[in-house]
Amino acid sequence: MKITILTLFPEMFDGFLTNSIIKRAIGKKVVEVNIVNIRDYTLDKYGRVDTPPVGGGAGLIMKCQPIVDALKANASEGARKILLSPRGKQFTQEFAVKFAKLDEIVLVCGHYEGVDERVNNYIDETISIGDYVLTGGEIGAMAIADSIIRLQDGAITDVSLNEESFNDNLLEYPQYTEPKDFDGHKVPDILYTGNHTAIEKYRRKESLKITREYRPDLYAKHELTKQDKKLVQELDQNDDNPKWLEDALNKGKKFTK
Ligand code: SAM
Repeated sequence: MKITILTLFPEMFDGFLTNSIIKRAIGKKVVEVNIVNIRDYTLDKYGRVDTPPVGGGAGLIMKCQPIVDALKANASEGARKILLSPRGKQFTQEFAVKFAKLDEIVLVCGHYEGVDERVNNYIDETISIGDYVLTGGEIGAMAIADSIIRLQDGAITDVSLNEESFNDNLLEYPQYTEPKDFDGHKVPDILYTGNHTAIEKYRRKESLKITREYRPDLYAKHELTKQDKKLVQELDQNDDNPKWLEDALNKGKKFTK
């Protein structure tokens, strides 16, 4: 997959591209990331890319010509052209999954007070990363690119992806590391039993509990399976020690430290 980012501040992407999973994915050619400086495309004799708005008002607006020419020079036919804007549809994991399947996307970062309205005639989709105003689209473009890159085959292991938040409209269950007791806060015993079925069931129950508590909107969209319904019933009855858990703990006693 190819991701092209059009920006007035290419240096902002240096750290993003040269660390951790993103660096590795680029190295393994899982993804090609192309950062384009919009300023390189201005035809203005003074090199300007922005001017005050027609009709008056605060700040500077990015002009059409450099953006449109940068788009024409860097987006292949069929590339999905996305403008970062507070006005756009809110970016979610669903969008990440959808965009990750495309061969090429182009992310256009506005800056200053935004972009000339007519840029919208040259893009396919407008995306916001949340109901707040950022200085520019660069941080949003990094967020979108990051979420897409980690979904590419070979970027990270499939198992990590399958069990992540938002799959199936649920949040991920809690994770723990050693030591078992940190400052009096303990790792649940069930995780030491070696009983994978019971551990999976326990984690599913925690997932349901956390999603219901933290993201009722997401929980409302989740379709409960037969097993989920039983687990939710236990949650409703505040049953923290159901028989299946107790049995697993008793059987697994020899493993628990
Ligand atoms: N004057 C604009 C307004 O009131 O809607 C805000 C412009 S903002 C300071 C400059 C640029 O940052 C925008 O053109 C956009 O590319 C980007 N931006 C700011 N907030 C954003 C958000 N929540 N989602 C996506 N892009 C954003």
